[in-house]
Amino acid sequence: MLDLAIIGGGAAGFFAAINAKTKHPNLKVEIFEKSKTVLGKVKISGGGRCNVTHACFDNRTLVSYYPRGNKELLSVFERFNTKDTVKWFESRGIVLKSEADGRIFPISDNSETIVNCFLDECDALKIPIKTLRSVKGIEKKECFQLNINDEIIEAKQVLVASGSSDSFWQLLKGLGHHVIEPVPSLFTFNIDHDFIADLMGLSVPKASVRLLLDKEQLKASRLSQSDLIQNGPLLITHWGLSGPAILKLSSIAARVLNQLQYRFEISVGLSNLKLEETLDVLSKVKSEHPKKQVVNTPLFNIPQRWWQRIHSLSFVNTFNTWSDVSKKDLLKFAENLSDFNLEVHGKSTFKDEFVTAGGIDLKEVDFKSMQSKIVPGLYFAGEVLNIDALTGGFNFQAAWSEAWVIAESL
Ligand SMILES: Cc1cc2nc3c(=O)[nH]c(=O)nc-3n(C[C@H](O)[C@H](O)[C@H](O)COP(=O)(O)OP(=O)(O)OC[C@H]3O[C@@H](n4cnc5c(N)ncnc54)[C@H](O)[C@@H]3O)c2cc1C
Repeated sequence: MLDLAIIGGGAAGFFAAINAKTKHPNLKVEIFEKSKTVLGKVKISGGGRCNVTHACFDNRTLVSYYPRGNKELLSVFERFNTKDTVKWFESRGIVLKSEADGRIFPISDNSETIVNCFLDECDALKIPIKTLRSVKGIEKKECFQLNINDEIIEAKQVLVASGSSDSFWQLLKGLGHHVIEPVPSLFTFNIDHDFIADLMGLSVPKASVRLLLDKEQLKASRLSQSDLIQNGPLLITHWGLSGPAILKLSSIAARVLNQLQYRFEISVGLSNLKLEETLDVLSKVKSEHPKKQVVNTPLFNIPQRWWQRIHSLSFVNTFNTWSDVSKKDLLKFAENLSDFNLEVHGKSTFKDEFVTAGGIDLKEVDFKSMQSKIVPGLYFAGEVLNIDALTGGFNFQAAWSEAWVIAESL
């Protein structure tokens, strides 16, 4: 009989197996993976570079990156956080580097470094990795009985690290767990509008994006007004808008956007200022540079071509100098720069990273051990839980920390 059967050969499953076996060398641990290969997502993560964690070393700040799971993760991060992740990899000879935006990668810029580290560790610790083994059933009697490729395998304890697998969530429901309906998170917004048409590739470093909900939608969403506004870089894509501001909003509002079937309105503020403040900036430029052509004076770090577009949506006369602009037109220009309404008619997948919001209800998990409160001996780590984060290495960090806590608790 196994001491610990791990279902899923992904990030969480491997990290738990290695740490469990390191801490308790006598444990009989095995990993069961349904695919032919393991660590598939780690390999493609971060555009093939694997963004292992984030240079955010304060646990209270760290949890703010998790729209779902922030309260629960605090105690988990107190036991194993971003600093520990860096130490863990460095102690295994992997040199990491921090990029300007805080994302941490192996210095090799190659996810194979992380994959090989995990495989080497399992090899050294003699942890069997059983591929092409799909767990199709799970029952708890005296011990756990797993139906794996129609063979029954017995285990004293089981870690579910099956990621966002619908069929496994169904099995867990059979054991009495509740699953919060999975919906996509981290996606870009599809928009057809002159505001951005044919401007693909242009970006603004500091913009704000506000989700426009009516009172009832806001109440039902359980979001606060401040959740609805996200700031950061904004990027025009082939289909619409992307960039950190959009991805953050897609994550925080994942559930309500799903309910709205991805048809909603946003307001974009390229000036990243309120209307009055934007108007003040424009008025100042008007009085200081009356003879300059408005179209040739881009402000707020807006690229020239995008600025021209907003200009043409705001003024009839393309050759206006600042002194020609009437009060009324100046106000319209300020409105378009600080509060431009756009209709979103769908979503697209973000190329580098996407996750699922939803999974095992966190009320049913004891975060001191990551153990089920319903089925003793059953543990959870990774995307199977109703925990997900913004882009930047936070999703892996949650998987590493949860897996570490399990290894300590066994
Ligand atoms: C393209 C992409 C890029 C990403 N990049 C990053 C990044 O750079 N940084 C970051 O922090 N996050 C990133 N993420 C998110 C991150 O990959 C996930 O949060 C993380 O992999 C979750 O780990 P996990 O172990 O829970 O699930 P997974 O890594 O998905 O592993 C689950 C495993 O369980 C197996 N499995 C499922 N059901 C069964 C079964 N019944 N029997 C046996 N095995 C089963 C699956 O085949 C899979 O191998 C990215 C995601 C994607 C899609």
